[in-house]
Amino acid sequence: MHFTSTRNSTLRASFREAVFKGLAPDGGLYHPIETPDLKDLFLSFSPSLSFADLSESLLPHLFPEDITPLAANRIAQRAFPFSPALKEIHSQLGALQKTHATIKILELFHGPSCAFKDFGASFLAAVMEEFLKDEASHAVILTATSGDTGSAVARAFYKRDHIDVVILYPSQRVSPLQEKQLTTLGGNIHALEVKGSFDDCQRMVKEAFVDPELSRKIRLTSANSINIGRLIPQAFYYIWAFANLSRDEQEGCIFCVPSGNFGNLTAGVLAWKWGLPVTRFIAATNINKVVPEYLQEGVYKPRSSVKTLSNAMDVGNPSNFERLSSIFHGNHGEMHRWIEGIWVTDDETLDTIRRYYETEGIFLDPHTALGVRASERYLEEGYNPTPNCLVSLGTAHPGKFLEIVEEATGKLPPLPAQLEAVLNLPKQATLIENSTEELKRFLLEHF
Ligand SMILES: *Cc1c(COP(=O)(O)O)cnc(C)c1O
Repeated sequence: MHFTSTRNSTLRASFREAVFKGLAPDGGLYHPIETPDLKDLFLSFSPSLSFADLSESLLPHLFPEDITPLAANRIAQRAFPFSPALKEIHSQLGALQKTHATIKILELFHGPSCAFKDFGASFLAAVMEEFLKDEASHAVILTATSGDTGSAVARAFYKRDHIDVVILYPSQRVSPLQEKQLTTLGGNIHALEVKGSFDDCQRMVKEAFVDPELSRKIRLTSANSINIGRLIPQAFYYIWAFANLSRDEQEGCIFCVPSGNFGNLTAGVLAWKWGLPVTRFIAATNINKVVPEYLQEGVYKPRSSVKTLSNAMDVGNPSNFERLSSIFHGNHGEMHRWIEGIWVTDDETLDTIRRYYETEGIFLDPHTALGVRASERYLEEGYNPTPNCLVSLGTAHPGKFLEIVEEATGKLPPLPAQLEAVLNLPKQATLIENSTEELKRFLLEHF
């Protein structure tokens, strides 16, 4: 599989190149050129296959030129010591009981930072480690975080050979738990606490990437969410989920994806392009409803984001829309045929968390709850086609959003063991001014 840019289809890059560059030289996103037909392989996967084994067997089919079966074994087994889980939930809603459809949650929050971004980050780390070992080279990942996404990257790259990670975060502006997740690892993970805002952190990272002296002396690379090496493995859990459905459920299976930057949905659509027989997708958003509106009206109107309870989805101009659109060749009608857009209010989200706690005794995080609500509405409001099974993606552990879950249910969900463990570890961070010069000095001194 080779990659081109969403902005210039004459550009061509290998997987290895696309992974280390992150962004295409023309500012577009890397996107697969070939569409392999892997339907028979997908249908051969049994429910007993572990997620790591399934990933291992997919890789050589997708990247015959870059990943040998032996390398696939090392990458997949190192990347995925954790696995998704598929759980059926019940709903007391009258309208739902008229249909035969089941709703299942695909739990993607059993990794080290308890959110689905662990899958992409962990795979990218394993791939980079493999490629760098091959080249006997060393790289420094430089990244800025406003809190949440940085922890998936930090955990994913922790103890990887040939790689150091430098993470900038705004001092006093991340939650105490987030700060612990970023600063307690040590080893090859270097946390820089910046006296400034998240925008300062982002500016410093951008300026460091174009600094001639730094690029001469250090192999700097990014691991941000638009990297194709983070997108590809997200397609794997749709395939894994499908393998874990009954024959009947597979006949009419719809995936509902709580979306912000639309990476997760794009990955699902890629799996479908490669032959996964999915009936349709639901793009579920909060009031930042640029894509649902596009699907309804055919006009794409990006705008500033609005703050909501599902804040990892507060995106007003989703970067992966370029990729989605290019999969459907910019054809709005075709995209709407395969993707329904449903947006959900904060009140509905809170009500859904409360309702599932009261009736089923389960805690949902706000992002997952939003997806469940969109799934229910797909059934209640009679969208077509009617599914046999709705698989709604569970994107974060409820223990990551204690305040919101408590507001909805009056109860505190349990903190997952992975998060509990960091609370008592000492913080290790270097405090720096919001100046690129200081960042540069740190990098030159350490690498
Ligand atoms: C990042 C994130 C999302 C949105 O995913 P996209 O790929 O950006 O659409 C949803 N839920 C949670 C918990 C997230 O962290």
